[in-house]
Amino acid sequence: MVKRYKIGVLKGDGIGPEIVDAALHVLNALGIDAEFVELRAGYEYYKRFGKPLEEGFFDVAKKMDAILKGPLYTPPHEKEFKSINILIRKELDLYANVRPFKSFKGFSLKDFNFVIVRENSEDVYVGIEGLFKGTAISLRIITYEGAKRIAEYAFSYAKKNGFKKVTVVHKANVLKISDGLFRDVFFEVAKRYPDITAEEIIVDTAAYTIVRNPERLGVMVTPNLYGDILSDLAAAMVGSLGLCGSAQIGSDIAVFEPVHGTAPDIAGKGIANPIGEIEAAKLMLYYLYEKFDDADLHVKAKNLDKAIHTVVEDLKILTPDLGGTYKTVDVVNALVKVLNSEIHS
Ligand code: ATP
Repeated sequence: MVKRYKIGVLKGDGIGPEIVDAALHVLNALGIDAEFVELRAGYEYYKRFGKPLEEGFFDVAKKMDAILKGPLYTPPHEKEFKSINILIRKELDLYANVRPFKSFKGFSLKDFNFVIVRENSEDVYVGIEGLFKGTAISLRIITYEGAKRIAEYAFSYAKKNGFKKVTVVHKANVLKISDGLFRDVFFEVAKRYPDITAEEIIVDTAAYTIVRNPERLGVMVTPNLYGDILSDLAAAMVGSLGLCGSAQIGSDIAVFEPVHGTAPDIAGKGIANPIGEIEAAKLMLYYLYEKFDDADLHVKAKNLDKAIHTVVEDLKILTPDLGGTYKTVDVVNALVKVLNSEIHS
């Protein structure tokens, strides 16, 4: 029996609603049979209703098969307003942040296809810091269980997606205990994957390699902070933050969103690049395919991947951030046209 998916939709702030609507349009064009359930939260929601999330937000969210999310704004100047992104991550226990980086011919700086699997819950992001007599101290937490869980995810991701190599990124030459643990647990897990090469790289060399020899990379697994920084570097290699999507994976649920933020400077103008959000929707289709063993979704995700590459590599229908003059809606229409021709060919 064909499953009817329940997909949570959190449109978010800034350009969020525009690009999420664009992604939903593309999912409809692909013929995804789903009930889309709107989840309401964000800084704009907070300004209107005085709270960051609607009542019962997590009860509904936890019943979804997956969640498609737009970016959420966290004002740096309002100390009492805590990041909803972090709240969602914690409450849904989204421990793996997965960002695939695949080059676009004629657009990206080099030819590559690699993935950053970032541990999403520990490291300095636990937010424990203090100021004592002029000395600021932050705690950096790496646990055995956290390191094991993310290494296992990285190897199983590599196996399922045909990558031959997983590389652990660390700075264990300096942080011998914390990064040392992350590294040692990685090699312990690696023993259970004899068909996949396990390698290590110091974080600064990783940055250099992403720029100089990205074709050498496969799956990289990193503690939280390094993954955060390296992901933006990798997005720059793709050519734009606006072209990259990400998955945040938990044991029961996953949330899919673009790598970029809310872009308040262009919100409401109809010129936001929807590709990052559509990439996120594509990752969601791959996730649902694996979770529910739904071969039809696999075909649809691959078709969408092909269509995205066709439109971007054609270098014609591009939004201003990619050097074009087209609008969000033009990119969506171009994608739908390619998808329809793929379906009928
Ligand atoms: P936030 O505070 O939510 O992170 P930001 O503006 O600081 O927002 P981004 O939203 O990542 O950070 O935007 C950085 C720059 O990239 C901005 O100039 C923005 O307009 C542009 N940008 C980001 N995403 C897109 C997109 N999808 N389409 C077009 N331009 C984008």
